Amino acid sequence: MAKILVYNNDNNRMETYYRDESDAMPYNTGRTLTVREFRGSSKSPTLWTSKRAMQSWNSQRYIFGLPIPVGFAFKRPWEGGHSNQSQHYAGVAFDVGQTWSNAKRATLRSSAQNSNIWSYVEPLSLTPTWVHFDKRALTSACPNGGFPLVKRGSVRYVYSYCSR
Ligand SMILES: [Zn+2]
Repeated sequence: MAKILVYNNDNNRMETYYRDESDAMPYNTGRTLTVREFRGSSKSPTLWTSKRAMQSWNSQRYIFGLPIPVGFAFKRPWEGGHSNQSQHYAGVAFDVGQTWSNAKRATLRSSAQNSNIWSYVEPLSLTPTWVHFDKRALTSACPNGGFPLVKRGSVRYVYSYCSR
């Protein structure tokens, strides 16, 4: 049983759900995204995401029209991801299509880019063997698409924490 915190963008409130691994994620329609798929290899007892990210998934899945294999969406910062500024830590990013051919991934990547659903779709050069799309809350703070890495002792010059 996972505890799932969902930020509801419509009323600015946090919601709490309890779901089994084989259950659909909150706000998911058609059971196209299970808790197990969302968490991937994360061992976290608590997961978090936003209502908008879940709705974006529903829209992308609807537009694409076929099942999309999800490698993972959620990660805690110490569980990997592609960088120290990964949107996976916010629970609003998806890494999908790992088991697909390059051609099929290219179809999904262009669907994601052309749909205007996502805030960011990572280019092929950075994600050659999967497709990354996310629904971040704000424009990225870093030119590479991430957000700043803030550590104990960070006080200023936040831009300098942007890296890849
Ligand atoms: Zn990713």
